[in-house]
Amino acid sequence: MPEAPELQVAVEFLGDRLPGQTVTDAQVLRPSVGRAPADPFPDDAVGRQFLSIRRRGKFLILALSDNHSLVINPKLTGGIQYVPQKQRVYKRTCVRLSLSGGDDFRYVDDRQMGQFYYVPDDLVETVPGLAEQGPDVLDDFTFDDFKANLKGFSGEIKGVLTRGRVISGIGNAYADEILFHAGVYPFKKRRALSNDDLRSIYDSSRAVVLDAIEHVRQRMGNQIDHKLRDFLAVHNEGGQPCPKCGNAITELRANQTITSYCRHCQPGMLLKN
Ligand SMILES: [Zn+2]
Repeated sequence: MPEAPELQVAVEFLGDRLPGQTVTDAQVLRPSVGRAPADPFPDDAVGRQFLSIRRRGKFLILALSDNHSLVINPKLTGGIQYVPQKQRVYKRTCVRLSLSGGDDFRYVDDRQMGQFYYVPDDLVETVPGLAEQGPDVLDDFTFDDFKANLKGFSGEIKGVLTRGRVISGIGNAYADEILFHAGVYPFKKRRALSNDDLRSIYDSSRAVVLDAIEHVRQRMGNQIDHKLRDFLAVHNEGGQPCPKCGNAITELRANQTITSYCRHCQPGMLLKN
């Protein structure tokens, strides 16, 4: 799942290239990801110019001329390719927009779980899931805002973080990284967290994501649909030595989700419900 660091670097990459370019051709190659509540896509997009691109949590919002936008929710397996038009079109390509500068903007999705919307600007906020997202992990919100946002949520802290309503942009991988950095047990119930735990999670969320952006920015190049994760401290590193204490990292799998953490640095009890 692309999360804030990869998407942020992709937005920077595309922000340097897309604005000012016109869509010269548009094709939907796999219709299942397409959502177009208003005008007929893809033909209606032809002739429009890209104006801007931004990220909100795990959504990408691309403004086009004449008050239309693309909203992309890549979910588990979606990604953007920005490639020369002559580059081979992969089987997993769902949407292809050819641009006046000679490149293609392609939405690729191995399992077609993501969603690609084409909407008039006044309907952007109605895109499912977008408005319910909490503040982006890189937005300017205070510790008190964070605590206030958490109030309505119970359950294990990792699940609370990945749901995106308290902080958005964090998925399974970066929730593990943030909780490791904070020294908080991922299955600790929200109500059991001390003020110090909350403070650590709040501080770590921004620190971990900013640090990851630096790593990804240096190495991603033009492969903006790739997920660089080999520098992560604990996620998917089960059995490897913990970078803080050297003990083996624990990895648990539940509901097709991996959680990696250090039992020593993130102490807690796994409670059976
Ligand atoms: Zn450790």
